[in-house]
Amino acid sequence: MDKKDIKSMNLDELKKDMEELGEKVFRATQIYEWMHVKLVSGFEEMTNISEKLKEKLEHRYDFTTLEIADKQVSAMDGTAKYLFRLQDGNLIESVLMKYKHGNSVCISSQVGCRMGCKFCASTIAGLKRNLHPSEMLEQIYRIQRETGERVSNIVVMGTGEPFDNFDHLIRFLELITNEKGLHISARNITVSTCGIVPKIKEFADKNLQVTLAISLHAPNDEKRRKMMPIANKYSIAELLKACDYFYEKTKRRVTFEYSLAKGVNDSDQDARELIQLVKSRNCHVNLIPINPVEELQFQSTAKKVAMDFKNKLEKSKINVTIRREMGRDIDGACGQLRRRHEENVGEDGTKEC
Ligand code: SAH
Repeated sequence: MDKKDIKSMNLDELKKDMEELGEKVFRATQIYEWMHVKLVSGFEEMTNISEKLKEKLEHRYDFTTLEIADKQVSAMDGTAKYLFRLQDGNLIESVLMKYKHGNSVCISSQVGCRMGCKFCASTIAGLKRNLHPSEMLEQIYRIQRETGERVSNIVVMGTGEPFDNFDHLIRFLELITNEKGLHISARNITVSTCGIVPKIKEFADKNLQVTLAISLHAPNDEKRRKMMPIANKYSIAELLKACDYFYEKTKRRVTFEYSLAKGVNDSDQDARELIQLVKSRNCHVNLIPINPVEELQFQSTAKKVAMDFKNKLEKSKINVTIRREMGRDIDGACGQLRRRHEENVGEDGTKEC
């Protein structure tokens, strides 16, 4: 029988298991706290648990941990990129960003991605597998343990499409916001999607207070289809309708991400069309300078063009910001550290996964 992934279980499930094992139910609360508050890295660190029970736990459960395979820290702003090795040898990336209002961690939701966005490094080698809830949590736990500083904000914007790993995402959100765990406020969590319309509706029905970010990136379907295969499946009109539904349900303002690519989506006409799409909505537009990926053909919009684009939106009373580039000196776009690492290791002939 496969062992159960104990860090992906909620407290109720753990309590039931303790009963099955003939243990006192309060043991579940103790174990839960060791994992999700004290952030220990194994059963052996649980000092108020008897050796006999620890043995039973080892026998019954897998205990997810991550190994730091590489880490790069920006000399400019302290941003740190972590390359983590999963227990099956796969590699994932997470980023720690330090802001005045607290520490924010950007986590991956999958190993690779199958969405195929034309400008994105994470999707080049396709999807390897979904991450378990425990592996999403552990990215935050490991960073908090390493820095000794509390993580207060989370963005699910690393490698992967979170709505392509929906159930694990929901369990992750349940555990990270749980008052018996790290208890991070849902309002401090952002989930970013390329726009899987039925999943946006399902997510809205969960009525969570998280921020939903939509990778829009183009002002019309024709352009969007050239950048993102998902646009062949759902039109912008359908996507916006799903966003309106999310807003109706949660009263949370949606963020639209718009990555500016030179000569692709940054013209006056593009700005005018984008204004038409979003102006009637209570939303926020986040302009992201495209981070050029070596193997892909997209180039970044010049700073001045980006500023002009922003000004046009502002004139139409749209809430708009240009994303601050964090850790510009350490690495490029999401997924590049992982890719580079896998390639380098591959060349040495010592590649493990
Ligand atoms: N799959 C999710 C989340 C991961 S990507 C999504 O599509 O939203 C997080 C954000 O970074 C998305 O808006 C994505 O489109 C954007 N992105 C990916 N590669 C980029 C690049 N090279 N330059 C700028 N933005 C990029």
